[in-house]
Amino acid sequence: MLGVANRRSIAWAIAKRLADDGAQLAFTYQGDRIEGNVRELADSVSSPLVTACDVRSDEEIARVFGEVSETFGGQLDVLVHSVAFAAAEDLEGRFTDTPRERFWMALDVSAYSLVACARAAEPLMEAAGGGSIVTMTYLGGERAVPHYNVMGVAKATLDSSVRYLAWDLGQKNIRINAVSAGPVRTLAARSIAGFTTMESIFEERAPLHRPIDAADVLTGQAMADVGTIAILQHRAVTEAQVLNEQLARALNSRVIIEQAKGVLAERAGLTMEEAFTRLRHHARNQNLLLADVAGSLVDGTLSATALAT
Ligand code: NAD
Repeated sequence: MLGVANRRSIAWAIAKRLADDGAQLAFTYQGDRIEGNVRELADSVSSPLVTACDVRSDEEIARVFGEVSETFGGQLDVLVHSVAFAAAEDLEGRFTDTPRERFWMALDVSAYSLVACARAAEPLMEAAGGGSIVTMTYLGGERAVPHYNVMGVAKATLDSSVRYLAWDLGQKNIRINAVSAGPVRTLAARSIAGFTTMESIFEERAPLHRPIDAADVLTGQAMADVGTIAILQHRAVTEAQVLNEQLARALNSRVIIEQAKGVLAERAGLTMEEAFTRLRHHARNQNLLLADVAGSLVDGTLSATALAT
């Protein structure tokens, strides 16, 4: 679990639910300031590992996944990436004024970190026979939301990274989804200027006319999981249909070839084997499919004498 800061964190709601369902969880925290909070929360779900991780550091990521591997016998089923950061001064005013350094910092922490963590998790999930990675996104990556600014650009990068990671990792039975939450009052959310206005607009316009909480985000994850399962099942059904059609076609041509062998053997006084050789010879010479030649012979459009040579 990356991204628990306190009990309001979306990652904590997810952690609690996973722990209730029997998962064993490891937690990371960024900075000494929140270490105490995270340790206390982690203890309440009997976590075997709580360790520091600043996602801007490749060394720290490598160390954390090494510790995870040691703790969980080289395997990992789920990775929750619930991490984002942009300087408070870039979450107000104009996006146009974002300086280069802070632009890259927001993208590094909020988007690239997913790529780095997914890469580190890959061998552990592969060892577990597959896994699931979940990250948190927001509508501000698709549309310009006042004050969301550079974080919107980071979320667009995150969303696109999810698609490319899904393509790579899906082959190893590793799923990756981004859940797009509405405004939830957390530490990170408090830095966004006008967050209270966002909340009240959400309450006014959302179908349920109420603010969402971290637990609702879980429902989103459950829906994403159901969606993925549905897609996988659909793919399995489609593959089965294609296979069935191929088998049916192969069987049909086999039957028609057997019939044609019989017809030719009887009309030209040949053994079944000689009849087959003659059919195949004709198909090759005329650059036709064997099944098509057989069909023409059986339906009478091709005579046995035409096959004599
Ligand atoms: P939060 O403040 O509880 O969580 C953000 C976490 O990111 C914190 O735990 C913080 O320690 C961590 N973090 C920041 N910089 C880091 C770094 N360099 N290395 C490691 N960790 C770092 O707030 P939250 O709202 O629970 O945020 C979680 C995710 O949900 C974020 O990606 C956020 O953008 C997303 N989200 C939040 C809302 C909302 O309204 N709260 C809406 C949509 C999406």
